[in-house]
Amino acid sequence: MQGKEAIIKHIDQNLADLVIKNGKILTMDAARPLVEELAVRGDTIIAVGNDGEVEPYISSDSIVIDLEGQLAVPGLIEGHGHYMSLGESLMGLNLRPARSWEQIVNIVAGAVETATPGDWIVGRGWHQDKWDDLPSPIIDGFPVHHRLSEYSPNNPVILIHASGHGVLVNALALEQSAIYPNTPNPAGGEIIRDSHGNPTGMLRETAQDAAREALAVNLSKRPIDVIDSERRQQVKLAAEEAIANGITSFHDMGETFQTIDFYRMMADEGNLPLRLYVCVQEPSEVMQDKLADYRMVGYGNNYLTVRAIGEKVLDGALGVHGGWLLEPYDDMPESSGFNVVPLVDLRRSAELAIRHDYQMAIQGIGDRATRELLDIYEKNFRRSPAKKDPRWRIEHCQVIHPDDLIRYSKLNVIASIRGVFATSDGPWVVKRLGEKRARQRGYLYRTLMESGITVINGTDPPVEDINPIDNFYRSITREMENGELFFPEQRLTRRQALETYTVNNAFAAFEENIKGSLTPGKLADITVFSRDIMTIPEKDILNTQIAYTIIGGEIKYQGS
Ligand SMILES: [Zn+2]
Repeated sequence: MQGKEAIIKHIDQNLADLVIKNGKILTMDAARPLVEELAVRGDTIIAVGNDGEVEPYISSDSIVIDLEGQLAVPGLIEGHGHYMSLGESLMGLNLRPARSWEQIVNIVAGAVETATPGDWIVGRGWHQDKWDDLPSPIIDGFPVHHRLSEYSPNNPVILIHASGHGVLVNALALEQSAIYPNTPNPAGGEIIRDSHGNPTGMLRETAQDAAREALAVNLSKRPIDVIDSERRQQVKLAAEEAIANGITSFHDMGETFQTIDFYRMMADEGNLPLRLYVCVQEPSEVMQDKLADYRMVGYGNNYLTVRAIGEKVLDGALGVHGGWLLEPYDDMPESSGFNVVPLVDLRRSAELAIRHDYQMAIQGIGDRATRELLDIYEKNFRRSPAKKDPRWRIEHCQVIHPDDLIRYSKLNVIASIRGVFATSDGPWVVKRLGEKRARQRGYLYRTLMESGITVINGTDPPVEDINPIDNFYRSITREMENGELFFPEQRLTRRQALETYTVNNAFAAFEENIKGSLTPGKLADITVFSRDIMTIPEKDILNTQIAYTIIGGEIKYQGS
């Protein structure tokens, strides 16, 4: 009796605030892999079980959700995104759905009508590959600024490409960015010009920085309260988008110290709606004095962690022949892509990361970029053997030489993939790389996983839609928009794909003790799907909805 009383007393102190039951709860915890019910107290899971095991934790005050057989998994973790940009992308003109240049010109013309002269008009997400036909003229594959300039003589216009690797601006924006016919290309970028040498408005890679800076200067001149409320709006919009998609934590790949100050203030107020793992993105000379002060783990009840140096961009995008390759492009034999952030700067960042116990999470797209990064990582690990578990990451991993796969696993480098990139890029990858190289080195997601490398997934929002169900589907099918499969031998299993959104992403953020599985003692971050994406026919996966998003035991989203 004494034993039973002791148990009851123990349970009393642990009555649940929230219970979910009658579900298929895939815990991703080998100890209890599949259960039907789960109890939460505060922000923590206190019990999982079957057949009424969790019943004793329920009181009259507990919220009880009947899952009616729906699938619950550990709260999904977006493994690579740009949080403030995501918020921003929901504020500017959304050009993603545009199916022609004509449509985009009309959207901008509409915005001009209500804009105050002098204000910048910002649009995002356009991609010429999504257009039904191309306008004339087309220079280097992109439209030119003339019609934007005609419709918007008094407002600078900047239209950010879906890849983030280029912008198209109008004449006034060119002028305010001090880009003239005789302006030289910056290192790692290109001002596209017509046959007379006049800028067409398209600014690739680092050439876009001048325009973005001119925009930033213009925006920063607004009153501080306007800027503050806009930032809060960005945080809110990004959160709504993420949470409605079942995302409970977000790896934010590159923010300034100023933005991190803002996040910290939001965390202090209890106003961060989901958990952020933030990478610092600043020049090394700025980082060196500040990294130590900014390192924070689990700040504000585990809503804010800063312990990584993030997405510096080693090379450009593959689609625009920017990815830095070991051998030239098949369809541009004079080019092997290019290096964007100088290696010397990355080496300095890596040294700072070692000194201040930060993780490196750097973008490497081409096989040359990957190799250079592995060289830098390896050198630093060798110099600092005391750092046992650095978990440094390479972001995107689109082209990898087979020799470097072995180095990945030897160095325990984390491969941060975008499942959806394989299928978005698929239609032109073979053109860029040739069929043999594409097969042997391109988007080797299955090979990476089966080489024992920790693979994490995400969609790089706002570059791609944050939707994890679509990304899961693309990861396991490699099905492109046109219905064809892109090297299907690299399909992940459903189990692998789920790992790349849960346990692995927790590990990649040093958070495996509090996230990634539904284990008593861990945070009660839970995603519930309307259908069982682990067993239903593949074609039904895309019709699945998010039923619940639960963060720290709070229901933050409920599907209809
Ligand atoms: Zn990114």
